[in-house]
Amino acid sequence: MYPSYLKPEIACEKLLKKLHVKGISDRRVLDAFRKVPRHRFVDKALFDQAYDDNALPIGLGQTISQPYVVALMTQLLELKENEKILEIGTGSGFQAAILAQFSMRVYTIERHRELGERSRRLLRELGYHNIVFKIGDGTQGWPQHAPFDKIIVTAGAPVVPRELTQQLAVGGKLLIPAGNRQVQELELYHRRENSIEKSTEGSVLFVPLIGQSGWEE
Ligand code: SAH
Repeated sequence: MYPSYLKPEIACEKLLKKLHVKGISDRRVLDAFRKVPRHRFVDKALFDQAYDDNALPIGLGQTISQPYVVALMTQLLELKENEKILEIGTGSGFQAAILAQFSMRVYTIERHRELGERSRRLLRELGYHNIVFKIGDGTQGWPQHAPFDKIIVTAGAPVVPRELTQQLAVGGKLLIPAGNRQVQELELYHRRENSIEKSTEGSVLFVPLIGQSGWEE
């Protein structure tokens, strides 16, 4: 049970005010946060911190991302209805649940079976039917379902895996933290007919993307 002295809806509204001040102006993003109970995505012992603007541990050395970063990345993707989205790094499943508010279908890949299965169970329990899960190395993308309108990587990569840009639809966007293991730049790639445009959107800190086109374990 969520502690009764801290109503999740009230804690969530306080968080949303902070996100708004920090530059999250897209109402659809803020509304999506209202619909996804973040406290359900963390351990019971952390319930009272679930609406703080911090990353929190989810086991196996991984984290549920900071709400501001989830909101920023969601806003940057400029999601439209009926899009097909690929997420690399399911983790707690929180970002996937936010994305699922917008899109037709979210494909999400996690390399740790335990985390992937836990998120699958939770999201089913919460009533999501448009999220498809896979356990495996997300640096290779999910070629069977490509091309994707949007691709979001929620772990820090050394470089952008070529497999992912190849699986991006024309007009699509790929958002990925890239850099070293200590700090990354949020890179946004916009695929045009014959070229790819790149912009950088600030520094972030993510757990490492581990796999064939990522870091070594
Ligand atoms: N989006 C998540 C953030 C989780 S942290 C959330 O909302 O909670 C990043 C996750 O990426 C970790 O669970 C980690 O195990 C996973 N990960 C790292 N490398 C990966 C890879 N190559 N493929 C799939 N998942 C990966």
